[in-house]
Formats: sequence, C-alpha cells, structure tokens
Amino acid sequence: MKKRILLLAGGQSGEHEVSLMSARSVLSALPRDQFDVTPVVISKQGRWLPPTETQRALESGEAPTGGDLVLHRAASAEGYDAVFPLLHGPMGEDGTVQGLLTLAGIPFVGSGVLGSAVSMDKVMTKQVLASAGIPQVAWALAVRREWQTQPDTVRERAAALGYPLFVKPANLGSSVGISKVARPEDLDGALTLAFSLDRRVILEAMTAHKPREVEVGILGNDAPIASPVGELRFDADFYDYETKYTEGRASMHIPAPLSAEVAEQIRTLALRAFRALDCAGLARVDFFYVEETGELLLNEVNTMPGFTTTSMYPKLFEAAGLNYSALVTRLVELALEDR
Ligand code: ADP
Ligand code: MG
Ligand code: MG
Repeated sequence: MKKRILLLAGGQSGEHEVSLMSARSVLSALPRDQFDVTPVVISKQGRWLPPTETQRALESGEAPTGGDLVLHRAASAEGYDAVFPLLHGPMGEDGTVQGLLTLAGIPFVGSGVLGSAVSMDKVMTKQVLASAGIPQVAWALAVRREWQTQPDTVRERAAALGYPLFVKPANLGSSVGISKVARPEDLDGALTLAFSLDRRVILEAMTAHKPREVEVGILGNDAPIASPVGELRFDADFYDYETKYTEGRASMHIPAPLSAEVAEQIRTLALRAFRALDCAGLARVDFFYVEETGELLLNEVNTMPGFTTTSMYPKLFEAAGLNYSALVTRLVELALEDR
C-alpha cells in the first residue's frame, strides 16, 4: 500500500519562502508509486491553508495570509502515515510543530521535540555541546530584561569577549538579526536589533582569523551516518542573509578541499553533536575551520536544513551516492522506523 504523506511547508518564520522552494522540490521527488503526498502550506499568519489555496501558494512562492487555525486542521492530519514538516526556523523547526504531531500520534520526519528545541536555540545548543566536550567559540547570554535594566553588565560581558564579536537572536536562522560588531560604539544598535526579534541574545567571540565555513550532513536515527564535508565560499564579511539568498554570491565546494584527517575529525564531531542533542532523521552541522591555527569550532546544528535540489544538505548526500529522490524516501522510512 502507498504511504500517505502530509508535507507541511511555509510557516511563520522569516524562512517561509525558502521552505516553499524546498517543498516544491520534495513534492516532485517523492516517488509516486510509493507515496501519496498531500501538501499543506502554513501561511505567515500561522494558519493551515486548504488544498486549492495551498496549490496557489506553492506556485506563487508565498502565502502571507489565509487558512484555518492550526489545531483545527491538525486534527485532520490523522489520516496520514507520516508528516514531513519541511519548515525552517521558529514555529516549525523548534519543536512546536513536533509537539503537535507527537500529541496527535503521527510519525514525522526529523528530530523530536527535544532535539528540535535545543538545536534551534543557539545558547542551549552551546551548553549541551560544551558538556559533550565539543569545541566552540567563547560566548555569553544576555536576556532582554537585563538589557533594559542593567545595560552596563551586558556591555561588560561583550567587552570580556573582545571585539569584533557577533550578536545574534538565540532562536532564528538565515542570519536574520545577526550583526558583526567591530567596535564598542556599535554594540547598542546590534543588541537593540537582536532583542527586537528575541528575548534571549547570544554574544559570540570571533575566531582570530576569518574562518573557512564547512558543513556536513547527518542522516539516520540511532545509527546515523555522516556525508562528505562541503565548504561554502562567498565574498562578504560574513555569511549574511543577502549573501545566502542572492544567486551567485556564494559557491559550494563538495568535497571541501581539506586533509583527510581534518575531514574525518569534522564528521566525527558532527556525529557526536547529533547524538548529544538527541537529533533524529537529519541535520546539517556547520563548523568554522581556522586554517592558520588548525582550530575546528562547531557553529550550529540545523535540524531542518535548506532542502531544494541545489541546497547543501541534499548535495552532500548526492556526493555520497544517494540522489535527491532516494534521500527523501530514506527520510520518510526513518520517520516510520521503530526506535
Ligand atoms: P544562522 O542560524 O542564522 O545561519 P549562524 O550562527 O550560522 O546563524 O551565523 C551566520 C553567519 O555569521 C555564519 O555562517 C558566519 O558567516 C557568521 N558568523 C556567525 N558567528 C560567527 C563567529 N562567532 N565567528 C565568525 N563568524 C561568525
Ligand atoms: Mg541556523
Ligand atoms: Mg548558519
């Protein structure tokens, strides 16, 4: 019998449009002889669109409004064998939708509530990975209320890390709200921006030299495998939103030109991080590699990475011999696996 799959796309985060692009790719790649796929687009308002509106949103690439309340439509998700929540960022990749599906008793692709929530939060990720002995940049947490009532303590924390430093909302993606702060005079503006997007903000030291950015894909549940390592190159100060989504600004190199030892170290660290964070199904683990010093620092773990046919994660597994269609099929199998 064909498996009935509910494909969720869009969502309330700044990565709504990216998710719709990924969903179009997955929709056309899931083999029709094995799967009956129903897409449901979630509007930017967080409501679930009925079939004809979903179709329209997939074609146009966005759905700012419309749809039914989440809980109303979620009840109808019961007729499916598995859900593919192809959602990026808050209200999708952060354990919220995973909690809803867990309550409804429906298997789904990717990490559960715990792995999704912890991996989405840059501060919690750093805490868990630190206790697992995984190397990272120095960092500090600041909470909005602290910034409002005792800004000097936050400024001191930044000074202790040294300049330049990075300021980021704890729970976002796609570089939204992230600033590289070169001088103390620019700190307040960066904090104001980050706190306008999140209650919690992370301050991060920069590596001594501009790092190379290398990424590895992980696939599996309790016996995960690592893909070859890929590298991103771009001509910008850092990998900001514009560089990420402007055609031709960045290039992917697979496999990354690295020694076999360094590549193996990256894959081993990524697998350790995947387990420490209780991830499942898939994740893309991103690192900084400082060539001058040989330092390898884990930057972040994305539990629902970009998933168009030209995105890094599918390309990494293609290089390992698993084509896009086989990869999405495997992800659904992993969702249905007894764990
Ligand atoms: P997002 O989840 O939005 O992708 P990241 O933490 O990956 O956020 O940061 C986005 C980009 O900013 C990185 O790819 C890198 O180019 C740059 N960056 C972030 N943190 C640091 C850091 N501590 N040192 C150097 N570059 C950084
Ligand atoms: Mg991210
Ligand atoms: Mg990133």
